[in-house]
Amino acid sequence: MIISKGDLRKFLNDYPFMALRPTKGNHLVFRGDFQFIAKSKNGPEIKDSFEVKIEIPNGFPKKIPKVWETNNKIPRTEEGEFHINPDDSLCLGSPLRLLDKINRKGTLVAFIESCLVPFLYAVSIKLQKGGDFYMGELAHGLPGILDDYKELFGIESNENIIKTLELIGTKKRIANKAPCPCSCGKRLGKCKLRFVTNRLRKTTSRSWFKNHAKNPAIIS
Ligand SMILES: [Zn+2]
Repeated sequence: MIISKGDLRKFLNDYPFMALRPTKGNHLVFRGDFQFIAKSKNGPEIKDSFEVKIEIPNGFPKKIPKVWETNNKIPRTEEGEFHINPDDSLCLGSPLRLLDKINRKGTLVAFIESCLVPFLYAVSIKLQKGGDFYMGELAHGLPGILDDYKELFGIESNENIIKTLELIGTKKRIANKAPCPCSCGKRLGKCKLRFVTNRLRKTTSRSWFKNHAKNPAIIS
């Protein structure tokens, strides 16, 4: 099992209308009515539910789960303002931000609480009140991913963001000797950016970062 029994029990206990479905293979699939109550710091308390399918890949937490909303409660619009991916899964955030959040605890419950609930909370508010996406409006697709990495790395240029991804996909010893992509003039191993890159390199494989650097819009 890719998650612990305690983690599974807590998830099914917290979300009693979700059920584990049989699959061929080592991934896990949950389906059902996902009912939640959430509140953000300055936002309203929201109680809502969505029919969802949650797929936890073999390799979790170093691979990112996918979630689909299966009852078309979330509008699929051309503008993509509800953040639905081309494969109809929910766009829960940029890949690195998701890996970073999931790996803090490495549990299904942590993924649900830190990635899925905040997303559905934002969707609920938008459905009820309209306006912008509550979590802070990231552009959809590649521009949103790059904007998010700008903030995560503290780097402005897209070219240097890609360089940073490449360095995370390179052996630490070698990467830390390279010139820092934040343009500080130091080596990466001497810049505070290394705290971010060293944390992120633990979240998944080096090859994942190499592939992500080649095509940041494709998430696998
Ligand atoms: Zn630097």
